[in-house]
Amino acid sequence: MMKLTSPTLIKVALSAALIGSLAACSQTPEQSSQANRSSASEVMASHAVPLGEANPLLANWQGPYGGVPAFDAMELKWVKPALQEGMDRQLAELDVIANNPAPATFENTIVAYEKAGRDLDRVFTYYGILSANLSSPEFREIQKEMAPKLSAFYSKITQNDKLFDRIKTVYESESLKTMRSDQQRLVYLIYDGFASNGATLTGQARERYAEINLELAKLHTKFSSNVLADEENYVLFLNKEQLGGLPESVVRAAAQAAKERGREGMYAITNTRSSMDPFLTFSDERELREQVWRTYYNRGDNNDEFDNNALISQILKLRDERVELLGYDNYAQWRLSNRMAKTPQRAMELMESVWPAAIARVKEEVADMQAIADAEGADISIEPWDYRYYAEKVRKAKYDLDSDEVKQYLQLGKLREAMFYVAGRLFNFEFSAVPQGSVPVFHPDVRVWEVKDKTSGKLVGLWYLDPFARQGKRSGAWANSYRSHSTFDGKQTVLSSNNSNFVKGVPGEPVLISWDDAETYFHEFGHALHALSSKVAYPSLNSGVRDYTEFQSQLLERWLLTDEVIDNYLVHHRTGQPIPDDLVAKIKKAATFNEGFKTTEYLASALIDLKLHMTDPQGLDPGKFERETLEQLGMPKELVMRHRTPHFGHVFSGEGYSAGYYGYMWAEVLTSDAAEAFAEAPGGFYDKEVAARLVEHLFSIRNAQDPAEAYRAFRGRDAKVEALMRDRGFPVGTEVKM
Ligand SMILES: [Zn+2]
Repeated sequence: MMKLTSPTLIKVALSAALIGSLAACSQTPEQSSQANRSSASEVMASHAVPLGEANPLLANWQGPYGGVPAFDAMELKWVKPALQEGMDRQLAELDVIANNPAPATFENTIVAYEKAGRDLDRVFTYYGILSANLSSPEFREIQKEMAPKLSAFYSKITQNDKLFDRIKTVYESESLKTMRSDQQRLVYLIYDGFASNGATLTGQARERYAEINLELAKLHTKFSSNVLADEENYVLFLNKEQLGGLPESVVRAAAQAAKERGREGMYAITNTRSSMDPFLTFSDERELREQVWRTYYNRGDNNDEFDNNALISQILKLRDERVELLGYDNYAQWRLSNRMAKTPQRAMELMESVWPAAIARVKEEVADMQAIADAEGADISIEPWDYRYYAEKVRKAKYDLDSDEVKQYLQLGKLREAMFYVAGRLFNFEFSAVPQGSVPVFHPDVRVWEVKDKTSGKLVGLWYLDPFARQGKRSGAWANSYRSHSTFDGKQTVLSSNNSNFVKGVPGEPVLISWDDAETYFHEFGHALHALSSKVAYPSLNSGVRDYTEFQSQLLERWLLTDEVIDNYLVHHRTGQPIPDDLVAKIKKAATFNEGFKTTEYLASALIDLKLHMTDPQGLDPGKFERETLEQLGMPKELVMRHRTPHFGHVFSGEGYSAGYYGYMWAEVLTSDAAEAFAEAPGGFYDKEVAARLVEHLFSIRNAQDPAEAYRAFRGRDAKVEALMRDRGFPVGTEVKM
């Protein structure tokens, strides 16, 4: 997932999540507990910043390419004073706008608002790097101290009445209707950022709104710490005789986990997904599988001090009360009003159209697994703790895909060349490495490329790549921009970045990665291309829409399997031969493996999330609600929700994905449908005309147009769910448009 960089309330509304941790595309951030920089403690020892010395984190960016971040001047001692000063400056800038005696206009209010906060923005670039790429215990102390101050800062902006009044005046003015459509959209986004966060309220309602927010923040935190407690407090220790079926890598990890818990010589299965999932996939010990499964899926639901059910009821009530103050019927309606789906009904319609095929596929999968169990003489019927285990046996029997063999054709360097090739064909971009030392970097591993338009030779921006894992770097892969494109105040060149955690190989030898990792590499590059291709005038128009913002990056993954990439870049690291056809065929065939399980466990969670936020929360018992809803849906008994309600952190640890878990599938429908537009075109995935439409309507436009309209401009119609059904190998049923 992408970090937003616009210096506006759109960022303000999402800020807590962004600053706390850059959201990953699919993985939970985890941070190493050890400092990665020896200088950190020395820096902390001398906290005092010499009086009068200019803070480099606040300074304008110097050097080529319209100025670049001074990553070589980044020191921890500057962080707190820079943040404080940056916040003060932005508040002062906003006060100037708010107190302008002239009547509010687009120029003196909206444009001025877009200009405010530049200094703080630059500080956040460094802050983001220190948090995600170079974290340390010393930095996390600073983070902890600054989090409430940042939160108070954002509240001050939303509660600036005079400022909001002026924005509202422009938003409601007659003259707005004659402005350019992107300007109208900009005004709407800024207005909505304030209004949907309570700025329209007055008097008691406003006080109550703030009270609820404060109360919710506490409950969200309590919710996640309860889940964490259940993850940490339940550990299953095994002896050597109980390891049957587990691969060497799982055994090693379990031995290490036991050692860390003072039980050397034993093997620990911890209560986390990364421990549970492989154990249930491989362990031959059925009773232990059941135990691990029960412990994992009962997190937050043990009727003890860490039980989350009462918290969920309170959270739902407070959310409902809060949106009622704003005039909405229910929380989901409020939440989706500025999403591409717009209404909960439309999101529900999408999910309900896929659900029957998903559970029908589960039936088939269970039948395949049952057949294997019967042939083995296991004398069981498939239960939820058997699903992964027997699915693995089916996978081996049916697909025979050796992931190690695939790896031999996936060289990190070649894949990067492949991405540049794709960017050249679709976007007309040319990447060339900048001379070493010409652009400051924050670690020797980081490399920088300049991006130019192939035809005009004009500079588009820079692309920073930080590929390798290291201590202090969060896990997973992500993309962000240090500076977004805008033209309203002089052209700003894009500074985009991709970050991943590949394991550095032996010097001189190619780094080989897995198929999943190669897809993720392309995915993140899709985010970078989305940023680099931006043509918007105002910074806020680079912001994302949650159920839309993963679409562009998901789509780019599809070019990994195009013939041009296969023939020229997926080549064996020793022989240079392209990946054989039969191996490609196996990869394609395995793509729909276990899709019944995956889609059903996901949809069950997404449906419960949305339904919980559309239901009157008075007297709602979360456990009973979950049970009854799943029963009405006809949830197969052989599996459970991916995230059961009592530990559904996406939804109850904060509001990032509350009533929004459906968004993953929403974006995937667009992805499947857009991919078909290419597949059907005369030039296939490199069709010039479709590529031009892609860049114009789906990439460079960013958030300057309603995503639904933008998609229609690309496709000539709305996206169809059937495309997703075909991708997942489901039978195509009734037509549902989005
Ligand atoms: Zn992403």
